[in-house]
Parts: sequence; structure tokens; C-alpha cells
Amino acid sequence: MDRQRIKRLLEQARIPRRYERCALDSYMPNNASQKKAKADVAKFLEKYPLVDVGLLFLGPCGVGKTHLSVALLKKMIEEKGDAGLFYGFDDLLHEIRLSWDPVSQSSELSIMRPVLEADLLVLDELGKSKPTEWVRETMSHIINCRYNNRKLTVFTSNILDRAGRPGEETLSERIGIRLRSRLYEMCKVIEIDGEDFRQFVKQADYRF
Ligand code: ADP
Repeated sequence: MDRQRIKRLLEQARIPRRYERCALDSYMPNNASQKKAKADVAKFLEKYPLVDVGLLFLGPCGVGKTHLSVALLKKMIEEKGDAGLFYGFDDLLHEIRLSWDPVSQSSELSIMRPVLEADLLVLDELGKSKPTEWVRETMSHIINCRYNNRKLTVFTSNILDRAGRPGEETLSERIGIRLRSRLYEMCKVIEIDGEDFRQFVKQADYRF
């Protein structure tokens, strides 16, 4: 594999520095759901590019959804030389909004093209904030374009897909029934539960 090309692809992938070193081998499962999530990611990588659907990681904060998504993205770039892109959901919307041209009713191609064309797009923290109608339309456009062009997308979300605590929104309530059902069509759902790893490590440090 051409080293220069891999280096360039990694730079273009927008992986946050905090997650740069995440790898599948460094993910240490603490329960059955985490063990299964790690195995599912390994299986996905083994089969890639012969996979029809992306992944949707659901679970509370700190269980490693972003870690596993980045591990997958990096492997795919390093081993297959494919183009990958990481975006926090809110950051992407922010950039789209900044470059929005009200006359053409579209955003700059320099932002949209890589999002629509990347071989693998990671969209982190889907539904972090309550979407407006414009956000739902923009998301539907991106998701539908990628789906229709058979591009894989990996999503993470902290929003539960079933009734949680009183007053807590479900995924359908947060992003809308249509978008939710499209996600289920285009992704394998991986539910991860457990404690926030950062708290877990802190407590362990304290104990030993
Ligand atoms: P989430 O996306 O589910 O909120 P993150 O992936 O951001 O969680 O994880 C928070 C931090 O904890 C990251 O630095 C990540 O690398 C680390 N982490 C989480 N779970 C594990 C794990 N099981 N093994 C190793 N590191 C983990």
C-alpha cells in the first residue's frame, strides 16, 4: 500500500486527536454487550468491502461507541486504502449551516462532496441536540444520498431506542420515525451498555 496515500487519507479523515490512537486491540470489553460489539466490528472489517449495511452504535456515554467507530475507520483506511471521514453530528451541521447559500438553497460543495462521497462516513453523536426541520431535511438528504449510492455509514448515538426514564426521548422522538427507520434499513444495530469507561478507570486508579 502506498504510504503517502495512506498518510494523506488519514489526515483528510478528520479523526479527532483525542481518538487518534483508538484501535480494536485496545478496546477492552467489560461485559457481554461490549464483547459482542468488538466481535461485530471485527466481523465487519473481515468482510469489508463486501458488506451491505453500515453500523449504528447505541448506548450510554463512555462505553466506547466512538472508540470502536474510529478503530474501524482507521483500519479501513490503513488496510484498504479507502477514503473515510469522521464528523461529530453537530459539527457537521454547523459547517453546513455556515456555508449555506440561501439563493441556491445548498451548501458549499467543498463541505458536502466528501460527506456524500466518502467510502465510509462516521457520524458521531447523532441526535445530540434536538433537530429542527432544516436539520432533519439536511440529514435525510445526506443519509438518502449515501444509501442510494451504496456508501457505508457508521452512526453513534446516546439516545435510547426504547422508553427510558420518564421524560427521556426515544430515538424516534428525537430524530423522527422516518429517519429512524431509514437508519435501521441501512445499518446493523449494535447496542452497548455499561459504565462510563472514564469513571471506571478513575475508580480503579483510586482503588489500587
Ligand atoms: P462513547 O462514544 O460511547 O461515549 P468513547 O468511545 O468516547 O465513548 O469512550 C470514552 C473514552 O474511553 C475514550 O477515550 C475511549 O478510548 C475509552 N474507552 C471506552 N471504552 C473502552 C474500553 N472498553 N476499552 C478501552 N478504552 C475504552
